[in-house]
Amino acid sequence: MAECIFCKIKDKQIPTKLLYEDGDVMVFPDIHPIKSVHLLIVPKKHIDDFAGVEDASLFSKLFIVAQKMVAREGLKDKGFRLVINGGGAQIVPHLHIHLMGPVGKTAGL
Ligand code: AMP
Ligand code: ZN
Repeated sequence: MAECIFCKIKDKQIPTKLLYEDGDVMVFPDIHPIKSVHLLIVPKKHIDDFAGVEDASLFSKLFIVAQKMVAREGLKDKGFRLVINGGGAQIVPHLHIHLMGPVGKTAGL
């Protein structure tokens, strides 16, 4: 999508530090991190949000990459949180998973 920030990152029109890339998924740091590790796990294909995913295999691809990044960032035992905003709760309307850590136990979100 022409005006989509994450599509522009995919097309290298906006610079980022790509931490992981394969044919379907890319990972880069959130530009405004709220934890010392705050990554975005993003499908290369433009999909507006979680509710718009039609190919269920994309979920596995995204979560397998999320799992890799948890290990790579040393968060396995330090506490991490995965967040998906959707249904208009997003700022960037291109599906993405936030991976944040370290985080401790919280009673709520
Ligand atoms: P959400 O509210 O889930 O849509 O969050 C979108 C996230 O994208 C926010 O945490 C922003 O800080 C982040 N963001 C926006 N533009 C960029 C960018 N160019 N590179 C990295 N992260 C970005
Ligand atoms: Zn997009």
